[in-house]
Amino acid sequence: MRPGSSWVTPGYKVSVLPNNHRMSRSVCSICAKHCSQNVVYQCSGLIFCSRRCAMLAGMRKQRRDRKNIY
Ligand SMILES: [Zn+2]
Repeated sequence: MRPGSSWVTPGYKVSVLPNNHRMSRSVCSICAKHCSQNVVYQCSGLIFCSRRCAMLAGMRKQRRDRKNIY
């Protein structure tokens, strides 16, 4: 995944950003670890350390949305 690219998980559009010094305090919204990769994944103002975490967040969101509908 290159910085600047993005992809859509179910219910979610995720952007890939370079993990630069301005983002040095970025903490993953799923596993609560500091993002140490070259890139971070951002979606809806949330930061994720990996694609896996971003997808987990997408699945959780989808579940929430479904609950709201029914
Ligand atoms: Zn994570």
